[in-house]
Amino acid sequence: MNLLNAKPYKSCTLCPRKCGINRENNLSGFCKESANLRISTACLHFGEEPPITGKKGSGTIFITGCNLRCAFCQNYQISQCGMGTSVSKETFAQICLKLQEEGAENINIVTGSHAVPSIVEGLLFAKDKGLTIPICWNSSGYETEESIQMLSSVVDIWLPDLKTLNPLISEAIFQAKDYPSVAKKAIRAMIEKAPLIFDENEKMLSGVIIRHLVLPGRMNDTILVLDWLKKHCDGKCCISVMSQYTPVNFSDDKTPSSSEHRKKALEAFPNRFLTTEEFAQIHELITEYEFEYLFYQDLDSDNCKELNADWLPDFKKKQPFSNALAKPVWHWNFGFTN
Ligand code: SF4
Repeated sequence: MNLLNAKPYKSCTLCPRKCGINRENNLSGFCKESANLRISTACLHFGEEPPITGKKGSGTIFITGCNLRCAFCQNYQISQCGMGTSVSKETFAQICLKLQEEGAENINIVTGSHAVPSIVEGLLFAKDKGLTIPICWNSSGYETEESIQMLSSVVDIWLPDLKTLNPLISEAIFQAKDYPSVAKKAIRAMIEKAPLIFDENEKMLSGVIIRHLVLPGRMNDTILVLDWLKKHCDGKCCISVMSQYTPVNFSDDKTPSSSEHRKKALEAFPNRFLTTEEFAQIHELITEYEFEYLFYQDLDSDNCKELNADWLPDFKKKQPFSNALAKPVWHWNFGFTN
């Protein structure tokens, strides 16, 4: 099916939730987004994996809304509270081109699975106007085959999460018991579409980087994920093990039902930083697995706490991140920043 021609928001089955609602005139889907593409922030980001960050930063565009809505999401202001503004395909393209002009190594679209047709349309328009840098799709991995097929016309680099392979945890934290099977299938399809290609400076031009965030108290679930990655993905893509889990205070989410739901969901694991013992275990594990292409965050529980301000963005601000982590280019409230 050509989603661009098929009014995909009329009876939305864009993601595996398959809500079937008409997003032209309501926000009642799980992602709580209408048919309008909304964006919160665009910046040069220096905290992605080295082949994505390169020398000049990744041109990151944070899409408003999310089809997964993890209970612990650090970007909850934009993924769950709707912070952002609608943009036309022309403005979307202008933002991409501005990032390119500022030196971005690539365009890095964050969490856009609920808006694939609009994003593809915007990227095609931007390419028509002179966008030439690689396109990176940065998502939760909760995608349909149709979406991946559609994205493959514009995406060069895939940056999916593999959050868990435990359906009880995926049901508890993001109400998606099918997440493990969907994400495995999506990742396999991405690997098929994008062989690993780097330029002479080790910048990624094509390929897949699979991210796994270690959750506190859930090391057995991490082992399940690493086992699967070793068996099915090692050598064909890069593996990125992240240990920055940070408890969030969710002070901007004033909705009682969502606070109540989140509180219950977060009972699935201890909502704290990783302990020193857990950091040691991660080190042991990644040494044992000997992944061919591996990235991991060399942190411990103390410097994780110190870096708290860096990891937790505030999308109300023109600069949502620390200056060391990002250079803002566009903001939902302020527009272009220079
Ligand atoms: S994109 Fe949104 S409305 Fe569409 S199926 Fe997914 S969660 Fe439901």
